[in-house]
Amino acid sequence: MELLCNSPLLTDPPLMGIPFHNTYAQLPERFFSKQTPAKAPSPRLLRKNDALAAELGIDHAWFNSPDALETFSGNVVPKGAQPISQAYAGHQFGGFVPQLGDGRAILLGEVIDPHEKHRDIQLKGSGCTAFSRGGDGKSALGPVLREYIVSEAMHALGVPTTRALVAVSTGEIVAREEPTPGGIFTRVAASHVRVGTFQYFAAREDTEALKILTHFCIERHYPEALGGENPALSFLDFVVEAQARLVAKWLPLGFIHGVMNTDNCSISGETIDYGPCAFMDDFHPDCVFSYIDRNARYAWGAQPNIAHWNLTRLAETLLPILDPSVEKAKELAQSALGKYVSAFQAQYLENFLHKLGLDTETDLENGAAFVKSTLGTLANEEVDFTLFFRHLTLHAASDPRADLSVLFKNPASAEHWMKDWQALAKPSNHLDKMKATNPILIPRNHRIEQAIQAAYKDDFAPFNRLVDALAKPHEENPDYSDLEAAPLPHERVENTFCGT
Ligand code: AMP
Ligand code: MG
Repeated sequence: MELLCNSPLLTDPPLMGIPFHNTYAQLPERFFSKQTPAKAPSPRLLRKNDALAAELGIDHAWFNSPDALETFSGNVVPKGAQPISQAYAGHQFGGFVPQLGDGRAILLGEVIDPHEKHRDIQLKGSGCTAFSRGGDGKSALGPVLREYIVSEAMHALGVPTTRALVAVSTGEIVAREEPTPGGIFTRVAASHVRVGTFQYFAAREDTEALKILTHFCIERHYPEALGGENPALSFLDFVVEAQARLVAKWLPLGFIHGVMNTDNCSISGETIDYGPCAFMDDFHPDCVFSYIDRNARYAWGAQPNIAHWNLTRLAETLLPILDPSVEKAKELAQSALGKYVSAFQAQYLENFLHKLGLDTETDLENGAAFVKSTLGTLANEEVDFTLFFRHLTLHAASDPRADLSVLFKNPASAEHWMKDWQALAKPSNHLDKMKATNPILIPRNHRIEQAIQAAYKDDFAPFNRLVDALAKPHEENPDYSDLEAAPLPHERVENTFCGT
């Protein structure tokens, strides 16, 4: 390779590092701002995702070359890229902001994956854009590592999510509460179109742009909507279904997104923007970590309603293209939104029944009541959510390590719960489902925090170990058994902060 590169006789075309097939940059100019990433003074590769790069058709030799580091630190715009930052609006904690946009993110371009799906490659933290609104467009290293860990863990847990391609440090110090090393996160997404992208054009009464955007999203995410009588309506149906499916996967993992603003609600149904997100330790439906979520708007148990609220904001933007009659358009939007509750409930229940080793075919009413009462007991008893289901799975497998009662404050409650469960469950029939839905490892907050603190001291071993371990969250691996444990009192993380 080196020989070839240095050879003056080189006749082959240069390596096409990333095979871009951009489409968003071909949309009208009011959809984005052309943007060149800022230069990083002294970039250093922290972690790269070779498997994902291969899936995206990125040349392996190039991905492992110094050119790739220059690209993912923003120093070089690779061949075929059309760097832009995207315009969007959004409701933040319920208040509408008509212009947000990518203030610290630049979309390099898109590639086509083996399923013929376009995927975005975006730099996050690569400097100011037209949408920075007084921010510096940069990212501190902590949020870069956090997003890397959690997004890859979510993928391994089977949750639709944006992915982590590369993490670099820039060699620059960014001004936060205290001066902090900077980093850039390269994110891969099915697209970066959000509910807030639709709101941006709706706020400007730009119906033509809304039609273009809807068509773009249908072609990109829901081509099945094209053939029907009313493609915009089936598009809304598909987004409703995708969000219901997504949130029904979050809750049974104890995941709290933390900042479900409409600008962080992806049209594709992927989890996006891992800022102050967290997985719960002790279960409580009102659990919140985000420091800025003072009113618990985005608590664990509030998420299904918030997703519906966000979808309602999307439906409002679509009214002008659902039907020429306002009344009829509202009726259609209501009927699409009405499907959310049953779609969410059915999948939420099924996922929890799998976790509990209960039948999903018969007696759903009793099953639903039992899920509810189980969650009530877990909350009252301050039981660690992940350990509870882990030990229940061990118990179902007659593994001598199973010890549920120590997780409860009151051992009598554990006994009582166990009797109820035994009356309903047929664990031996459902052990596979229990194992598949009850992970052994989740990215616990205190572990993420420890990995970040070590990285700030230039020790990336805990970060790398965490990412490696979380790639197989359902697998028994004695090397990682320490990562199962709940935090000790002094390790507990009470608050998480935005990824700015
Ligand atoms: P987020 O909380 O990450 O969803 O971001 C909300 C909005 O703030 C988006 O428009 C971001 O681009 C913008 N933003 C966040 N951090 C920065 C930053 N450091 N510089 C400029 N804009 C930012
Ligand atoms: Mg965001």
